[in-house]
Amino acid sequence: MFFTDIIGQENIKNILRENIDSGRIAHAQLFEGKSGYGTLTLAIAYARYLNCENRHNGEACGVCKSCYAMNTLEHPNLHFVFPSNKTKKAEMMYNDGSSTSKVVSDSYISYWRKLILSKKGYITEQEWYKTIGIGDVSKNVSGIIGRADAKALKEKLIYKSIGKGYKVIIIWLPERMNIEASNTLLKEFEEPSEMTVYLFVSENSSAIIPTVLSRTQQINIPPIKDEDIKYYLQKNKLDDNLFYQSQGDINIINSIIDKKENNENFSFLPIFQNLMRCCYTDNYLKLIDWSNDFSTLNREEIKSFFYNSMRILRSCYITNIGLKKLSVIYPEEKLFIKNFAPYINDKNIENLISIFEKCFLDISRNGNSKVVMSHFALTVCKHISSKSIRK
Ligand SMILES: [Zn+2]
Repeated sequence: MFFTDIIGQENIKNILRENIDSGRIAHAQLFEGKSGYGTLTLAIAYARYLNCENRHNGEACGVCKSCYAMNTLEHPNLHFVFPSNKTKKAEMMYNDGSSTSKVVSDSYISYWRKLILSKKGYITEQEWYKTIGIGDVSKNVSGIIGRADAKALKEKLIYKSIGKGYKVIIIWLPERMNIEASNTLLKEFEEPSEMTVYLFVSENSSAIIPTVLSRTQQINIPPIKDEDIKYYLQKNKLDDNLFYQSQGDINIINSIIDKKENNENFSFLPIFQNLMRCCYTDNYLKLIDWSNDFSTLNREEIKSFFYNSMRILRSCYITNIGLKKLSVIYPEEKLFIKNFAPYINDKNIENLISIFEKCFLDISRNGNSKVVMSHFALTVCKHISSKSIRK
């Protein structure tokens, strides 16, 4: 991955290049933002640029010894740490001759490299878990970065970097690091060995253990700008309408495309309509059924539901106050919005949007989807039920 592989993010790229060019290399940096904004890709491009022997015009040369090894992510000074868990795939791998009997990041390194290279670093946590067969984040199954991982990394750090250049350790999703692992590595993060740089790539820094977080220099990676998303869609001959759903996040675009290709067209509208119907009629039993069904969706589908539902609510409100032209409405949504708009007004729009936003965050932070969704459905009901609307 080169800086040119990153979609948009020109400001961030310039800051990172300038830091390296001027020798201001912080030893522990945290790139925070959604994976689909390009956080991991930025970290890998940073590592390549940092160790390139012949940088020019703000880009790595692509042909030096270091760049050559970076092409396959097999650079001897590049180390990855990422969440994992014990699965059959890993057992097969270490039974095949790996020296460790504990599952650590390196047990999965060949799967990791393959996925990262094929997706240019734009991967979701769920996609990673699917690759190594450890289930679904939305069902509270997740990987961890545990003590065995920390110990394995520490062993690698005993040796100096090979040849010229920095040893770069990319820790993907440090929020999954448990307390034992962070205690094992804390001193390293504070005073790394010579010529060693830690790049933490996080989606949620508030979940990182504070003693680790406080040792990093934080760089917030924002959503990709609208014009860069539009350019990306044009360049790749993709449907322009994907822009409205993207939220500056390439992973959302990829997930919609994957679903279309697999004929798994996720449609949020019937789910939203059903929720509103149950709320309006105060049908609590059906609301519980609704939330049980909903909590079986996967994380990307839940995200898509929340994002699109908020868009529909805003469109209804805008339609209701007579500013229809300002809203983004797809043909299949027109009739529903026309009929539903009278129910969304000054009295409930703000509360509804904040309920949707809060639950979206709870789910993103790995909250138990059954608990979150039943509470969500009942709270929404208070603002949509026929009784409250007639008041
Ligand atoms: Zn190079």
